[in-house]
Amino acid sequence: MSMSILSQPASIALVLGTRPELIKFAPLIALLGDRARVVHTGQHFDDNLSGLFFRQFGIQPPAVNLGLGGRSRGTQIGEATSRLEDLFDEDRPLVVAVHGDTNATVAGALASNSCRIPLVHVEAGLRSFDRAMPEEHNRIITDHLADLCLAPTETNRANLAAEGIGGDRVILTGNTVVDAVHQLLPGQDARVALTERYGVRGKSFALATFHRPENTDDPDVLRVILEQLVAMPIPVLLPLHPRTRLRIERFGLGPLLEQLHVLEPIGYADFLGLARESAMLISDSGGVQEEASVIKRPVIVVRNSTERPEIIGTFAQLVPPGPMIGEWVDAMLDDLPALHLRLAEQPSPYGDGSAARRSLGAINTLLTKSRGSAR
Ligand code: UDP
Repeated sequence: MSMSILSQPASIALVLGTRPELIKFAPLIALLGDRARVVHTGQHFDDNLSGLFFRQFGIQPPAVNLGLGGRSRGTQIGEATSRLEDLFDEDRPLVVAVHGDTNATVAGALASNSCRIPLVHVEAGLRSFDRAMPEEHNRIITDHLADLCLAPTETNRANLAAEGIGGDRVILTGNTVVDAVHQLLPGQDARVALTERYGVRGKSFALATFHRPENTDDPDVLRVILEQLVAMPIPVLLPLHPRTRLRIERFGLGPLLEQLHVLEPIGYADFLGLARESAMLISDSGGVQEEASVIKRPVIVVRNSTERPEIIGTFAQLVPPGPMIGEWVDAMLDDLPALHLRLAEQPSPYGDGSAARRSLGAINTLLTKSRGSAR
């Protein structure tokens, strides 16, 4: 009995390695059902950065874990590429999908390219124009290898066009993070229970996350950020990324943590619920910036550049690590109820929660076309 190519089990390999890729791939994995074959490179494989998220989204755990955490960038990309090539040779998927800008993204892209399997890049076309960031190189390489670039916004589509990537290689989808937030943001009662559980009062605390090398690898920069958080006039919840915790310990900055509400990384539903109940977010995370626009909270983006310019000046302020953080915190607190009301009226530029459905449609079209050209 012949089976339609569009319904063939385990036909779409989704390569991922980190928490944000998992969060933003989850809505697509759910839609793909048994057509999805999730391959985890193992870059983030602690339960609270990985397994917990598969369970919360109710999606199947990875079919394969390459176990490549804790190595250098070159080794991670090189080893993952080679292992993925073997995997795809053994059991060839019809399409490989990668997400965003990590080492796993590039490895998946290179392996699919070398095996001549059509490549889909989800969250394509983001550019910080900051060549010091490895993520910028990861995105550019992946977009140029991809047969199908799924661009979240018009800005992303224009970035791709400026590099000669256009036509039916690019589809505007919105960002699947909106779908993910719609799926897991807890309701009002659950959020009140959450604030009680975490010992904070609604709209009277900040939620902070930091993990980017430019903020955590230099002891002076890391110290300044922690000092700014300690000086805040409201409590700060800080779920600590393992990479940040390691650097804080290594640089002897542990005593600064005693003045903050430090947590282990928390599950996605809790994170979203707390973010929604917070006064503001302070973060260097890409995903948190996008989520801020869906849950309607202001975010101080502690970075020198951003690949997400769509929300700067509305939901987000780009603030380099330093005393400007405290100044922005004070300015937001002075105007908080009005600021929250203004943001409640602002639509998210990342879409309406249909990005996974649109992505699936685009992947099905690619499959139909590649089947046509294989004949
Ligand atoms: N997040 C979470 N629990 C936490 C901290 C963050 O679920 O304790 C989520 C957050 O909502 C966002 C993602 O993890 O969607 C951000 O991950 P990260 O900062 O590692 O990566 P980035 O977004 O910068 O690529």
